[in-house]
This record gives sequence, structure tokens and C-alpha cells, in this order.
Amino acid sequence: MSADTTLMPIPGPVDPVPVPRAATSRADGKVELIGLPREGIRAALEAAGLEPKQAKLRAKQIWHWVYNRGVGHFAAMTDIAKVQHPWLSERFAITRPDVVEAQVSSDGTRKWLLRTHDGHDFEMVFIPDADRGTLCVSSQVGCTLNCRFCHTGTMKLVRNLEPAEIVGQVMLARDALGEWPSSPDGRMLTNIVMMGMGEPLYNFDNVKQALKIVMDGDGLGLSKRRITLSTSGVVPMMERAGEEIGVNLAVSLHAVTKEIRDEIVPLNRKYGIEELLSACAAYPGANNARRITFEYVMLKDKNDSDADARELVRLLRHYKLPAKVNLIPFNPWPGAPYECSTEERIKAFSNIVFEAGISARVRTPRGRDIDAACGQLKTAAERKRRSQMDEQGARAA
Ligand code: SF4
Repeated sequence: MSADTTLMPIPGPVDPVPVPRAATSRADGKVELIGLPREGIRAALEAAGLEPKQAKLRAKQIWHWVYNRGVGHFAAMTDIAKVQHPWLSERFAITRPDVVEAQVSSDGTRKWLLRTHDGHDFEMVFIPDADRGTLCVSSQVGCTLNCRFCHTGTMKLVRNLEPAEIVGQVMLARDALGEWPSSPDGRMLTNIVMMGMGEPLYNFDNVKQALKIVMDGDGLGLSKRRITLSTSGVVPMMERAGEEIGVNLAVSLHAVTKEIRDEIVPLNRKYGIEELLSACAAYPGANNARRITFEYVMLKDKNDSDADARELVRLLRHYKLPAKVNLIPFNPWPGAPYECSTEERIKAFSNIVFEAGISARVRTPRGRDIDAACGQLKTAAERKRRSQMDEQGARAA
């Protein structure tokens, strides 16, 4: 990560948090078309000098090529006059994030370390299952929230990802999986979780703009029922997320007492468990057919007792939440402050919740051979870069 990480507090009525400066514009001065709504593409073409009618037609054609065919350059757009291709490519870009590293695990999990056009690294993971394939998408480079079990939480927030960089992750995954032209049948990539690096509700506008494009039926076409937004509990933004984006909700709960959740998810000091669960109960569109997922990382002797499991059941019942619980065996990294609960403990915890009539699936750890826990690949790549620099320095000396 480069050192230009100056944070500035943004005063705001909703939720003042430290955020970084905005992304820099592209070095080549071109306008990135990925991530713009259709209307935005049309407006950009018109601002560059196209007649309004032509801008509208070209926007429609470009949208089709980009989101249905996965085309990454204007020369391939055969229904646009050849003479116009250079004019377009001098002014506009259709780019994906750069791939710094791509890994495939023995269990089929794929992980990418990606880089923004201004040189910041972030991660994306694809998890194939028998009946679905889930892409875990990042919303920020780094994170402000410092959840203690999370490796990304040890990194500083550098900046929010732009809509282009969020949509670009989905497009890049489609490229890698060979899933163009876009068609809903037989896809490997069927689901998206906004659960990668960052807190999506601290990058609300960009996440919303990006997901609208991902959900557009005349393009990437993923149904809102197959998209899940995961939050650590940014209570003031949850209702808006339900109303304006409308995707499924997952909440990183991870503890059932104030003391422990304050430690594991420090945001709890600002928005406590009661406030969070009330906001979940009011989440637009949640019902028994579209349950809210409660993520619960299993930490040895921290949050994994029978009493914790019973309290979890009590809370979910008390707030009448249409809930399913996802128990996540902790995936430690070097220097992590916790250990994973034992298998027996996880099973006992799961049984208590399950016997109360609430689904409590234990998530199978995936991609352990490729550092697939969030943030690990980025750190591993930085370590490698540093040691290469050390070697070069030693050779030069
Ligand atoms: S769990 Fe999510 S919100 Fe918490 S530090 Fe990690 S990336 Fe940030």
C-alpha cells in the first residue's frame, strides 16, 4: 500500500467517519464508461460532442457490447461505424481493475489481488459450490472499522472503490470464468456477496450505483435475490439500503453481549446490539422467504459457549427476526489475536440454535491453501514485494 493515506474526518449528520480523499482521475484523462448508468454514458458522449440522438443510440450500443458481450474495446463494436472507433477510444475507456495475482485453490476457490488505476490493491474471491458460484466483492481499499478477527481490519482505509471498480470485479470474474455473452443459463457466477474488503454502507452511493448496473436485466442481469450486502452494523444506512438497493442483508453479529461485541466489532460502541437488531427487524423486504443472515465467527473461549448460543436464540426471537445464522470457523492469520473454536464446540453451538428452529449452518472453510481469508493475499503480496526490494537492495549494495 502506498503511503498517501491521509484521512480526513467528514462532518455529516448521518454518521461522521474518517474517509480518505476521492479517487484520482485516470492518468490518461479518459472517461471510464464502466460503472456509469446508461443515462451517464449518454451524457458523457453528448458532453464530448455527439449529437443528442446519436449519443442516445451509441450509449445503447455500447451498453449492450459492454454488459452483454463483455467487450473491452471499441474496435470490437461492429455496429458502430469504424471511423468512430478512434474518436471513442481517444476519449473513453472500458477497463477492468488490473490483476496483480490470481490463485486457484485445490477446492476450486479462486482469489484475485486486483489494483486500481491509481495503484491501490484490493481483493476478490470466487467460491464455487455444487449449486451456485458466489463472488465476494470488495467495496473499499482497506477498512475503517478494525474488527478484531478480520485481517483487512488491520489495514488503513485508503479509499472507497468507485462504481467502475465494483462493477469491474464482476466483469473480471465473468472474463475469467468465460461467461460472455451474458446469459442467465448455466452460469457459474450466480451470486454476489458484498463481503470483501471494506464496509459497503460506508461507500453507499458507489455501491448502490454499481449494484444497480449489476442487477440491470438488460446487462449483467443478476437478480436482487442473488445479491447480499453484508454490514457490520451501520444502523443509520440500513433502511436506505433496503429501500434503495433492495438486496438481501447479512449482518456481522459475531457476539451477543455488549462487552464482547465491543471488543470484536468496535462499531458496536456506536451502534449497540439492540439498536442493530431493531434496524434488522425494520429492514425493508426481509421476510421468511428472504431471511437476514447473521454472520457469527467462532472464536475459542470468546463467543462460543452454550450460554452465548442460547442468548443468540433469545435475541433473534425477541426481535422476531426472519433469521438464518452462518457460523464461520475462524481462519487465523499470523499474529491473529484469537483461535478458532474446536469442532465439537461449533457443533454444540450450532445444535442449540438449530434446535430452536433457526438454521445455523457451519460454513466450510474454503481456499485455506491460498490465503483466502479477507486481506491475507494483499498482505502476502506486500511481504513478497518488500522481500524482493530487500534482495534488490542487497544486490545493489
Ligand atoms: S470485517 Fe468487514 S467491516 Fe470489519 S474490519 Fe473487516 S472488512 Fe472492515
